[in-house]
Amino acid sequence: MRATMIYGAGDVRVEDVSHPTLIHATDAIVRIVRACVCGSDLHGYNARTAADPAKAMGHEFIGIVEEIGSDVHKIKVGDFVIAPFAYADNTCEFCREGLQTSCIHGGFWGNGDVGGGQAEAVRSPFADGTLVVVPGPVDPELYPSFLALTDVYGTGYHAALKAQVSAATTVTVIGDGAVGLMAVLSAKRLGAERIILMGRHQVRTDLGITFGATDVVAERGEEGIARVLELTNGAGTHTVLEAVGYRDAYDMAVGVVRAGGVISRVGVPQYDDAPVGRGSLFGRNITLTGGPAPVRSYIEHLLPDVLSGVVNPGLVFDQTVSLENVADGYRAMADRTALKVIVQP
Ligand SMILES: [Zn+2]
Repeated sequence: MRATMIYGAGDVRVEDVSHPTLIHATDAIVRIVRACVCGSDLHGYNARTAADPAKAMGHEFIGIVEEIGSDVHKIKVGDFVIAPFAYADNTCEFCREGLQTSCIHGGFWGNGDVGGGQAEAVRSPFADGTLVVVPGPVDPELYPSFLALTDVYGTGYHAALKAQVSAATTVTVIGDGAVGLMAVLSAKRLGAERIILMGRHQVRTDLGITFGATDVVAERGEEGIARVLELTNGAGTHTVLEAVGYRDAYDMAVGVVRAGGVISRVGVPQYDDAPVGRGSLFGRNITLTGGPAPVRSYIEHLLPDVLSGVVNPGLVFDQTVSLENVADGYRAMADRTALKVIVQP
């Protein structure tokens, strides 16, 4: 079968690899119907060197179960499934607390003997714990929204949930990528009435308005902070959902959060050092939270409104490439000519 591999920076190839087979009794083989390219795929795409070993790519996919192991009981052959970006047994102590990204037995697609999702098929460990079945019949029009549930929608929702967004909180979302836009949608869904979106790409911030943003701030850095403070009588917002991951985004979050407020980060931090002391967080009683979203615990909760059409998170996809042309999809996202790209095997 064909699968996506990455070598050095910018070097994405589609190669022949052997079709996955069941290894453990709890495995399932999933034929991939659609996959997509994630903003976090671009970290490796931009930063790898030729010395890095080749890696299987793709952690966002939906598909049809082709084969199951003897100890798989909930998932059946023929089921249409959504896979979260991390696999998990969904039974260990962390999974039971809803933190499947910390599963004792879990892991991430495209590592070790587990393949990536930008491929024709993949072996899912812990099929009963990992995969979420979409009750049939499945409408292909909803594929993009199902793909959003594999990562970006759950990640945006996690940001809003960890910040305890409600009707009583004002919100700033930093970042107009797919996760930032999903944070807007999630904040709206949790009842927020004032959602300030910080982003520079008008097509994206317009989509953010569709999802519920009430104000758009295109300025960055000190100017961006000043603009948000101006919009909030100098106080800042109760919650800040940071969906970028760079240090300047953290600094903006500190600058626009209201005293007593929460900064919730879901952009993977590309820095280790940042201020947390008296002048930044402590003096104003700021809570810093966030982390990798346990998307698995949110899919079932978010799926009904996707199925009924109440929300359409799939609007974040603006381009589709064939699996053979997956490299074009990476390039389009790296060049920012695409917001988010679907890969069709
Ligand atoms: Zn677990």
